[in-house]
Amino acid sequence: MTEPLVRITGAHKSFPLPDGGRLAAVDDLSLDIAAGTAVSLTGPSGSGKSTLLHLIGAIEKLDAGSIVVAGRDLRKLTRNGLADYRRTIGFVFQRFHLLPALTALDNVIAPVLPFRTGFDKRERALELLKVVGLEDRAGALPSQLSGGQQQRVAIARALINGPRLVLADEPTGNLDSRNGTAIIDLLLTLRDEHDATVVVATHDAGIAERCDTALHLRDGRLA
Ligand code: ADP
Ligand code: MG
Repeated sequence: MTEPLVRITGAHKSFPLPDGGRLAAVDDLSLDIAAGTAVSLTGPSGSGKSTLLHLIGAIEKLDAGSIVVAGRDLRKLTRNGLADYRRTIGFVFQRFHLLPALTALDNVIAPVLPFRTGFDKRERALELLKVVGLEDRAGALPSQLSGGQQQRVAIARALINGPRLVLADEPTGNLDSRNGTAIIDLLLTLRDEHDATVVVATHDAGIAERCDTALHLRDGRLA
């Protein structure tokens, strides 16, 4: 067997409760994710889906356990190492989080704007807008785009660094079913044509069905 892209072992993350206790959002969870697969993460609201994605994306820190991604043990990374690591991840949020004053094109470029890259940023961003079917809306502001189009811009932005791992947190949660289907089609295209591994948290059983692996969370544990 080849090494999994992501190996999660005994991951634990808790948050303080107002009464002084702690709530385990992710509770002693272990999981392997094979490279090049699409994994769905379902479970009721509050079951830990977002927390797990944030831990994998190093947006949140583990309390205990380990997460190793492509040989990098996230808990052992330095500040710079973490910043480097985060640049290898594409994160897609339910609320698209586009910058309202920037065009679609500039939103896609934004994550790499401060960095020296081995590619032409503008050219790459235009290519990605083409991948998501928005090449003709490059100059549009987010307010001039539909929700589905904004999410496609957000996906293009998540891809600007050519991530091997794409983490999507209820990416279709604010979309109608037609636009939602287009977003999932797109995420699965990334798996099929761009060699990406995709982890998608969703409430939609239809989406879960289309993934290679369907995981269900309850109270921070795999059910
Ligand atoms: P899901 O995405 O499945 O709805 P979350 O991962 O957002 O679940 O939340 C899991 C649990 O952790 C919930 O009970 C939530 O209230 C709690 N939680 C998540 N983030 C925080 C936080 N930053 N501070 C306090 N509690 C949090
Ligand atoms: Mg969530």
